[in-house]
Amino acid sequence: MNYISTRGAGIGERHTFSDILLGGLAKDGGLYLPGEYPQVSADELARWRALPYADLAFEILRKFSDDIPVEDLRELTRRTYTAQVYCNVRDEENAAQITPLKTLGVEEGAPLSLLELSNGPTLAFKDMAMQLLGNLFEYALARHGETLNILGATSGDTGSAAEYAMRGKKGIRVFMLSPHKKMSAFQTAQMYSLQDPNIFNVAVDGVFDDCQDIVKAVSNDHAFKSQQKIGTVNSINWARVVAQVVYYFKGYFAATKHNDERVSFTVPSGNFGNVCAGHIARMMGLPIEKLVVATNENDVLDEFFRTGIYRVRKSAETYHTSSPSMDISKASNFERFVFDLLGRDPKRVLQLFRDVEEKGGFDLQASGDFARVQEFGFVSGRSSHDDRVETIRDVFQRYDTMIDTHTADGVKVAREHLQAGIPMIVLETAQPIKFGETIREALAREPERPAAFSGLEDLPQRFEVLPNDAQRVKDFVAAHTRA
Ligand SMILES: *Cc1c(COP(=O)(O)O)cnc(C)c1O
Repeated sequence: MNYISTRGAGIGERHTFSDILLGGLAKDGGLYLPGEYPQVSADELARWRALPYADLAFEILRKFSDDIPVEDLRELTRRTYTAQVYCNVRDEENAAQITPLKTLGVEEGAPLSLLELSNGPTLAFKDMAMQLLGNLFEYALARHGETLNILGATSGDTGSAAEYAMRGKKGIRVFMLSPHKKMSAFQTAQMYSLQDPNIFNVAVDGVFDDCQDIVKAVSNDHAFKSQQKIGTVNSINWARVVAQVVYYFKGYFAATKHNDERVSFTVPSGNFGNVCAGHIARMMGLPIEKLVVATNENDVLDEFFRTGIYRVRKSAETYHTSSPSMDISKASNFERFVFDLLGRDPKRVLQLFRDVEEKGGFDLQASGDFARVQEFGFVSGRSSHDDRVETIRDVFQRYDTMIDTHTADGVKVAREHLQAGIPMIVLETAQPIKFGETIREALAREPERPAAFSGLEDLPQRFEVLPNDAQRVKDFVAAHTRA
């Protein structure tokens, strides 16, 4: 398997899965993708139906990572996808499935269900990929006798998923910047209660954008970055995307009896990482009818899939919503899909994303490329705060099931794209406890709390408060990487 950049650099060069595992963008600013998508045969699809999650993950990942010895990969996937790690389930007996399918009911002739992706340690779907990344990083670093210091900024979900994936891992330290006193009590406790010596919570006196600016400033200091072996784990990381392909297969098998059936997926979307994995599953041959992109008020992606116009937003136009993990101004993985949509023409991708930087966007309606979107199964919709509250209430009353705000965006939009006879699977991306305020508003009751999280907010917390100053953060990192 060879990997190429969406902007064309390094054509003719060889990049293996391990080569791109620890990196971010390609050197031309593009994103990595496989030279071609591996195909799944009818025989394989039949055989995979009965596999436990970890072995399904092994079968799919090996198609993308032929440079990792198969016995090592099998061990890594079995260690990652265990019922002990994904234990925060609705129904105890489902823990072994890792991503259980929760049937809601039949609406307009379409079976409607939730694929539970948030039963891992931080109660959001990012654990699905990040837990694997933790084990892959540790493995790859050990093979080369290297170490890595991960620097990141978080407003909640990503940072905690990264910390829980990397805690206790040999050769890895995590420096995670978060805005001091700006996260919910639950999210703060989730991160700051970690006592592992390789995890450093840095509470910056500022807002989330300040944290992000510091990470950018540090990353632009190339000397410091290479001397301190600084890396990131953001959503463009290829291994994260490919790990997410697995549960589209798992969900398909759970919702169907035979491999000639088709299903649709609705994906609450922000940076387009999750639904990009669905696109890849479909390109591999999984019988997916529609990929429904659900956004909140930050509707960059919905606008594109309705009109062919991609127009990134400025920070001032980016709303803080009650589904905050989807509050994005541009979708960092979107370029991967555009590359496929344009017939894999790196020159045009380069031009379009130059236009994004220089003119704030591009228009594929005018060029005629937009017509091809439907060949890829994509449709979309958007949801508002009132829609979320209404949907949380409705799903609770009708199906006795409590859902979080992001999943509610998904259910709301899924209902606009039902087709009789085609199962609709909504990806459940977080548990309600993480966004308790809206649950109280919708249901006038407390969100359900998984047993392992009782008393979380009372645990001792370990964090360092630093001023909004990149130099001070650099000094802190340097002081803690000496040992
Ligand atoms: C990150 C996140 C999303 C958005 O996923 P993308 O891969 O960025 O599209 C949706 N819901 C929750 C709860 C998240 O944490």
